[in-house]
Amino acid sequence: CEPDSVAVRADRARVRAVSLTPQFPSPSSPTSSSDRPFDWVDDVAAQRRRAGLDREVRVREADDESLDLASNDYLGLSAHPVVRRAAADAALRWGAGSTGSRLVTGTTALHRELEVELADACGVEAALVFSSGYAANLAAVTALTGPDTLIVSDRHDHASLIDGCRLARSRTVVVDHGSPTAVDAALAAHGGPAMVLTESVFSVDGDSAPLCKLHAVCRAHGAGLLVDDAHGLGVLSPGGALPALDLGGAGDVVATATLSKALGSQGGVVLGPRRVIEHLTQTARTFIFDTGLAPACAAAALAALRLVRAEPDRCDRVRRVAERLHGRLTSAGLTVSTPGAAVIGIPASSPTAAAEWAQACRQRGVVVGCFRPPSVPDEASRLRLTARADLTDAALDRAVDTIVATARQRRRPQEVLPGGSC
Ligand code: PMP
Repeated sequence: CEPDSVAVRADRARVRAVSLTPQFPSPSSPTSSSDRPFDWVDDVAAQRRRAGLDREVRVREADDESLDLASNDYLGLSAHPVVRRAAADAALRWGAGSTGSRLVTGTTALHRELEVELADACGVEAALVFSSGYAANLAAVTALTGPDTLIVSDRHDHASLIDGCRLARSRTVVVDHGSPTAVDAALAAHGGPAMVLTESVFSVDGDSAPLCKLHAVCRAHGAGLLVDDAHGLGVLSPGGALPALDLGGAGDVVATATLSKALGSQGGVVLGPRRVIEHLTQTARTFIFDTGLAPACAAAALAALRLVRAEPDRCDRVRRVAERLHGRLTSAGLTVSTPGAAVIGIPASSPTAAAEWAQACRQRGVVVGCFRPPSVPDEASRLRLTARADLTDAALDRAVDTIVATARQRRRPQEVLPGGSC
């Protein structure tokens, strides 16, 4: 495939996927009704409502008894007593905030300890902790590319990688999802410095990237590979915390991850060769200009990481839960994505169908994720379920019964089923 046409085609899909602005009024097209600034947001809101894309900020109560299949607390560690205690102790010892950017006052002994243990667990030379996985991705993409670099990005890459591409001063080619062949073609046509961006487990459908093939393609072209392991860390490897790729020692792979999913805390990390991590320390804007991660979050992530390493059963359990969930939904006749780790997508026929289906589940005490544009392309609205290691079989069966029963009640919630990764 010819990279520029790939880029144009996929860019259109991506614009649809990540931004509503082109479809709706914007500050550059003021409405006729008024010239006051910000009036245009009312028009956007009206159009968003008409398209079934309005979102609600749901307030979670501390004593909420709903069955949760929407959070990213894959190993159930965010509420683990040891993790909570570590967070509380750190807040008492160090204060509520980190007090400054990492290069000024925002690095405590906890941050350092966490970086050393993350690097060790993931089998790489070094790690650098950020205030979020989003910030880690922005850092890795922008600091490791320059004006001559070609960035090759999978069509399903997360918004934080996409925003990294937008901030980078490089040309970005967006290629077909999960296609080493498309990556190969893009790299061959460029012939210069390049970096390929992928996720180990994609966040919406939960499918895995062909990492070994991608790595081989990158090697053949001398390109770097950046793998976002947000949904793989702590879930993919039986030993616990190793990222999906066993390629870390190779020196040409950099991984990022969030501390907010399997590790039940908050924050992000970039993992890789020491010289790369040192380069990020010196140049990454989201490291230099952002306040460091709160000590309580660093301590919680560290405690969770130690639990993950000491008790690998959690990792096995979450995978078994995902498989059971997948098996039961499939036998009930629903089309669902095959889980690469803990995430399962259930396509819905429209944004409205997805929202109504999720709402019906919620009314019966089961909370599921509902993904609509701009999180997914127009035609790919879906429910998103996450397996958790602490879900009992009985809870799982109740969740499945609810999802299936509400599907039956609804008028063809899966009328239009996209193929491909689902
Ligand atoms: N990458 C992926 C694939 C994600 O799913 C997320 C979180 N949704 C992030 C990065 C960002 O991580 P954080 O929430 O820690 O900012």
